[in-house]
Amino acid sequence: MILRIALPTPLHRLFDYQLPLSSLSTPPRRGCRVRVPFGAREMIGLIVDTPEQSDLPLAKLKPVHEILDLEPVVDPTLFELGQWAARYYQHPLGDALIQLLPVLLRQGRAAEFAHATLWRAIPGAETARLSSTAHRQRELLQILLEHPKGISPDAIRAEGGHTPLLKTLAEKQLAEAFQNRPADSATIPVDQVLREPKLTLHDEQAAAMERITSAQGFTPFLLYGVTGSGKTEIYLQAIEQTLNAGKQALVLVPEIGLTPQTLARFRSRFRVPVHALHSNLTDRERLDTWLHARRGSARIIIGTRSAIFTPLQNPGLIIVDEEHDSSFKQQDGFRYHARDLAVVRANREQIPIILGSATPALETLHNAHSGRYQQLNLTRRAGNATAPRFELLDIRQQPLDAGLSDELIRRMHQHLAAGTQVMLFLNRRGFSPSLICNQCATIVDCTRCDAHMTLHRTPPHLHCHHCDRQTPIPRACLHCGSSELRPLGIGTERAEDALKRHFPDTPVLRVDRDSTTRKAALEKIMHQVHSGEPCILIGTQMLAKGHHFPRVTLVAILDADAGLFSADFRGMERTAQLILQVAGRAGRAEHPGEVVLQTLHAEHPMLQTLIGSNYLSFAGQELRLRRAAALPPFTYHALLRGEATRQGWAEQFLRELGQQVREQHKLPEGVQLIGPFPAPMEKRGGLFRAQLLITAGQRSALHAWLDALILQAQQHPQGRRVRWVLDVDPIDN
Ligand code: ADP
Ligand code: ZN
Ligand code: ZN
Repeated sequence: MILRIALPTPLHRLFDYQLPLSSLSTPPRRGCRVRVPFGAREMIGLIVDTPEQSDLPLAKLKPVHEILDLEPVVDPTLFELGQWAARYYQHPLGDALIQLLPVLLRQGRAAEFAHATLWRAIPGAETARLSSTAHRQRELLQILLEHPKGISPDAIRAEGGHTPLLKTLAEKQLAEAFQNRPADSATIPVDQVLREPKLTLHDEQAAAMERITSAQGFTPFLLYGVTGSGKTEIYLQAIEQTLNAGKQALVLVPEIGLTPQTLARFRSRFRVPVHALHSNLTDRERLDTWLHARRGSARIIIGTRSAIFTPLQNPGLIIVDEEHDSSFKQQDGFRYHARDLAVVRANREQIPIILGSATPALETLHNAHSGRYQQLNLTRRAGNATAPRFELLDIRQQPLDAGLSDELIRRMHQHLAAGTQVMLFLNRRGFSPSLICNQCATIVDCTRCDAHMTLHRTPPHLHCHHCDRQTPIPRACLHCGSSELRPLGIGTERAEDALKRHFPDTPVLRVDRDSTTRKAALEKIMHQVHSGEPCILIGTQMLAKGHHFPRVTLVAILDADAGLFSADFRGMERTAQLILQVAGRAGRAEHPGEVVLQTLHAEHPMLQTLIGSNYLSFAGQELRLRRAAALPPFTYHALLRGEATRQGWAEQFLRELGQQVREQHKLPEGVQLIGPFPAPMEKRGGLFRAQLLITAGQRSALHAWLDALILQAQQHPQGRRVRWVLDVDPIDN
């Protein structure tokens, strides 16, 4: 018998093996794992097919070493989703399919729960049967008797029991060990899924909820709602309906920050098990959650990007919160976009999906405009919270102290004196983004990247934020030898210093990757903020995501211009999203908020639209520009990225490849090759990078042609010294 196997290799092909018929007890099925010889080692792969014939003679096929599963670990829906994604993102099928699995399953471990060993008393056992002097044995047996369903050795120790004596009790036929399988959580009656009452929806929420309730089968929704408008309440009530129908809900959230708060909110609302899949789990915990989801005992699963591949026994609803967030796109290897795959999955499962955001991606808005998604709008804040007031603070010709204008400092004093909190946003960590020589103006660069080294003061060192290279601070300029090196530009550390000088009596809390390397550090800061006492928060992106700061009444963006003139056509969209996300942290409770944007370009149309009306008007303008320039979402992009150890190699490879494919396969109508060009930062981490852009008016034309491109790239002799990858729907060009 022949098995066609998907293996985690970079090759765009499947591999045939033979299975001696005698070794079969049950027929091998698609989606079961096998252990096979591959070169000099063994690999775990997935059965894709059992073909009648192979391209190779049977005698040449190596035998499968072992079939690991009786039941498929990848169910048919997920298998097809994986196949679809591999094809769509032009990623090798074997590698894509393996990535659907938790790490322990990739390593060949059994798809089973960790069976905990528990102890219990044997029926009829009583302490009286032990000698009255055997105190410790009596104590131990007493503990066991108090836990008729069994108790783990850890728990016994926690109750003061002496576990080495368990064996003695077993020898005396008083106690026994047994393997515990986590019990199936009993189905919770429909009228009891709520732990706490739900909120009464306001008008806009009620209208949105009505549309969601009446959805039949696959129905994609865009839930546009300004921060604090009550999107999460909609999620909760939609999930409640899903649970009442006996089904499971899958919720995707961005990488950081959000999970603990969201999780707490879901757990306090519902009585059903809520499982989280986030980066702090052990592999074992991941597998257990995966198993619970697969057999239906996890009713709500909240996770980051890869959670989109969670098997669901009885799927009812998918939610993607902050759907615009770029962390949903995997940026290396299998470059899928979890939001887009979520829509594909919902379609296959025939269930509704809600994409929620205060700043939807232009792609998503475009889908709503063209009628593919139903758009639901929440335009006002819920409860009695008022929207923050925006203001552009023109800092032309204003003296700045570490990025702070006098006017901003004055406002900060006002808010702090009124007993509330202030939050400053600066998306640059470190002390200053560069170190410059006062004599010859040479800036210290990273030797491995086309980038300046960032100066850090705590602890003092130079750090490249692109390749992670770290060096001591030089004493003298490498170019002219002068010892007059000075920091140029402002990072969060430097702003923090200045703030401490200006506000000696107010706590200044810095939140960035450096100040929160230890997990407890962030928790401590958040605790202090939530105590409500006046304080100043200064931080990067980390502050923009998900956190609610009800006592913050002033939000200031120190450098609103940072993204205005980016070379990337998405720069403006990103900037608008970031500004609104940061602004959304202010004044969420009864306190009205104020948002101040320090800018040198107060007349910039984007900033004007953003503060004068709302995100939707901005997005409308931006979409018109994109359409005029034939940019996504009105066209489709794929980027062939190459990198090599020598300058020019990647570019040359891409150029020759482009020419070859053009000669051999006529470019389909509407498909264009642009480039190759050096990447925006050509040298990075010691590699020289280039890219070839492929644009198309239609997706179908693009994909057929990409197949030819990949085939050609694999066969190209220079392909060996250039590492290349195809990025379909790239989010940074
Ligand atoms: P979003 O997810 O859009 O930021 P949330 O759902 O977190 O908004 O709601 C913001 C705040 O408003 C929360 O404190 C929430 O409890 C409250 N809220 C939401 N909906 C209502 C409602 N219908 N009535 C009263 N308060 C509400
Ligand atoms: Zn110099
Ligand atoms: Zn570097």
